[in-house]
Amino acid sequence: MFERVIGQENAKKILETSIKNDSICHAYLFSGPKGVGKTTMATELAMVLNCENKTGCGTCSSCRRISQGIFADVKMILPDGPSIKINEIRKLSNFIFMSSYEGKFKVGIIQDAEKMREEAANSLLKTLEEPPKNSIIILTAQNQYAVLPTILSRVQKINFHHLAARDIIDYLVEHKEATKEEATKIADYCGGSLGKAIELQSSEDIKVLFSMATKVIDGLCTFPAHQLLEIASTVGRERKQAARFLELLSDTLRLKSLKQEFSMVFGKQYSINQIASILDYIEELKLYIAGYGNSQLAMEGLFIRICRL
Ligand SMILES: [Zn+2]
Repeated sequence: MFERVIGQENAKKILETSIKNDSICHAYLFSGPKGVGKTTMATELAMVLNCENKTGCGTCSSCRRISQGIFADVKMILPDGPSIKINEIRKLSNFIFMSSYEGKFKVGIIQDAEKMREEAANSLLKTLEEPPKNSIIILTAQNQYAVLPTILSRVQKINFHHLAARDIIDYLVEHKEATKEEATKIADYCGGSLGKAIELQSSEDIKVLFSMATKVIDGLCTFPAHQLLEIASTVGRERKQAARFLELLSDTLRLKSLKQEFSMVFGKQYSINQIASILDYIEELKLYIAGYGNSQLAMEGLFIRICRL
C-alpha cells in the first residue's frame, strides 16, 4: 500500500492501520511542506478505497483511471488564483452527496485548503459534519494553522514532513535519469521537497539554469573575465530566463550561507553581512529586469559587484 509515496512512514502507518481496521475517517487534513507527497498520498488513498484488488495496486482499471484523473467517483479541486471559490466547494459537496457511479468510495480532494475563505469553508461544514456513507474528503495544506478552526476541528490531521536528502537522491537516480552528482546537488537545493526536485530535474531549461547557478556559486570570482561575461550573456539573453536564474541563485546562496558567519561562496570568503547585501543586489535586479531593464548588462553588473565586494 502507498508504495508510490516516498518516505512519510508515519502517515502511511496511520492510514494503513485505519484501512485494516475498517476505521477510515470521513475527513482528513494532510498538512506539511510543499512537494513532499500530500497530494500523491490523497490520490493513493482514493486508489486503495476503490481498487479492484483492495490494495491500490496501480494497475487495475479503477487505479489507472484515478491516477489519470478520469475516475467518476474521485474529484479534486485546487485554488483558482489566490483562493478556492465557493462555487467549487458547492460543486464538490453536491458531488459527494450524489450516489457513487462505481459503487465504492466517493473521494473529494481539496488542495491548498488554507486558501478557502470563510464563505467557502462554511459551505463545506455541513458536508464535513454529516458526510454520506462511504465518502471521504481529504484536504491538503502547507500550513494547518492557516486553515479555519471550524474546519480543523472536524478533520483528522496527519502531518507530512520534509524528505531525507537520501530519499530524494535515490528517487531522482532511479526514476528521473539523474546522475548521482546531479541528484546530490538538486537534493541539497530542494530542502526536502521532492516536488521541487522533480520540477528541477524534469525541465531541460531549468536544469541548465540550475547548473549555471551552482557553477556561479562555486567559483564565480575565480573565473577569467571572458567566462564571466559568457555566463552573463547566456543567462541574461532572455528576461524570463534571467529572472528564473536569479531566483535559483538567491535560493542556493541562502541555503548555502546564511546559517554561518563566514562562507566560502563564489570562490571567496564572504561575511554574513556581505552575503546579505549580495541578496539585496539580486532582489534589486529582479525588479529591474521585471521593469524591462537590459538583463544581460544587469547580470554582468551583478557578477562584477559580487567579485569586487
Ligand atoms: Zn487497483
